[in-house]
Amino acid sequence: MSITRSIDTSTGPTVISRSEHPISRANISPNALKVLYRLKDAGYQGHLVGGGVRDLLLGREPKDFDIATDAHPDDVRRLFGNCRLIGRRFRLAHVLFGREVIEVATFRALHDSNEEEGGARHVDDEGRIVRDNVYGTIEEDAFRRDFTVNALYYNIADFTVIDYAGGMDDLKAGMLRLIGDPETRFREDPVRMLRAVRFATKLGFRIHPDTERPIKDLASLLGDIPPARLFDEMLKLFMGGSALANFETLRHYDLFGQLFPLTERSLSHEQEHFPLILISRGMENTDLRIQQDKPVTPAFLFAIFLWQPVRERAARLQAEGQHPAQAMQHASSQIIEEQGNVMAVPRRFSLPMREIWMLQLRLELAGGRRSQRVLSHPRFRAAYDFLLLRGEAGEVSKELCQWWTGFQETHPKQRDKEAVQAAPRKRRRRNRPRRARGGEEA
Ligand code: ATP
Ligand code: MG
Repeated sequence: MSITRSIDTSTGPTVISRSEHPISRANISPNALKVLYRLKDAGYQGHLVGGGVRDLLLGREPKDFDIATDAHPDDVRRLFGNCRLIGRRFRLAHVLFGREVIEVATFRALHDSNEEEGGARHVDDEGRIVRDNVYGTIEEDAFRRDFTVNALYYNIADFTVIDYAGGMDDLKAGMLRLIGDPETRFREDPVRMLRAVRFATKLGFRIHPDTERPIKDLASLLGDIPPARLFDEMLKLFMGGSALANFETLRHYDLFGQLFPLTERSLSHEQEHFPLILISRGMENTDLRIQQDKPVTPAFLFAIFLWQPVRERAARLQAEGQHPAQAMQHASSQIIEEQGNVMAVPRRFSLPMREIWMLQLRLELAGGRRSQRVLSHPRFRAAYDFLLLRGEAGEVSKELCQWWTGFQETHPKQRDKEAVQAAPRKRRRRNRPRRARGGEEA
């Protein structure tokens, strides 16, 4: 079986001339152009490939520019002083221009190997299962790529676009289609299922029915992907401006539970739509912030996804006799550890996430001198935003949220008096036992 098994390559590629496509050098990063020209002047092929070409053809601004060449990594390094090679099995060259990194990859082929299924499987540096992986021709390089629209090459030699896999037609039709046999390609690298969702929502494309069909059956293969790689993919899915659409689409294909099994379990037995609303609103806010160029942190995203599992766990521990703060501490630790088995959550994110959760207990106790101390907590702002989200989802009262909004806005000198006078008294009373609210709705 070869990678090109279901693809007719006998006719060769379609070559689209400069006058028939809209890609202009004016829209390509000057540094990427420098690399392309230097490769060409040294006698090598130089092509822009992947998202760069796809997005330019769609009139979108590419996130980054990837280059493919027939030069070997060592040749690339010789050509560029500002270059480092990364990866072990497959070395890629990173050409550095200040903060911009231009990735230069040598054409690669996925070779047929007889022991493909039963025999030795290789895992590359990122944990992808790969077949025999060797340098190859541009044509081979095209067919080892994931989607047809990601396999278009912009050739610096004559400014043509080279299309081996039918990507141009799919691009025009708004269709995301895996190259080759979908099931084989998903098994080869299950992360392609997540990529399918990400590209479909980002580009507003439909996933081709043949590509879509095997996803639900194969979703569980994501369990074999190293937690660190899943974390990277999760960031791309939820920090790229389409968090809500990705959340919904991932759930549609049974993929969300592979990333957040505890959350998926909570969602499946939800009552009054609470965790669903919390997550949906949270994703909506995240997308809005990104649109407005405001910062978003993975800590906050994780805090949202894992909140319901944490409050359910805390409620259980409390029912077993633990003090509320203690229950929340333990629940946080447990949930973070369990999520970590699936997806690596670096401590620089899990620590602030835990603080956001712990602060919720203190925020539920509006009023009193303690309120001022919470204000100066470095994580107060995030915890307050989180409280507002809980308010929007109907988990805490609007009055509580408003109280904290007002409390912050007042001049620091007035806060003292205010804390005592204006705190909703009922709430103070009700919150005195500091029960984790998780128990009620869980
Ligand atoms: P963007 O950078 O906008 O997220 P992209 O298409 O450039 O999208 P990258 O992850 O940067 O995505 O990968 C660059 C190219 O490398 C892809 O367009 C695709 O051709 C190829 N590629 C990346 N990941 C895979 C994969 N898992 N399987 C096959 N090909 C891949
Ligand atoms: Mg890219």
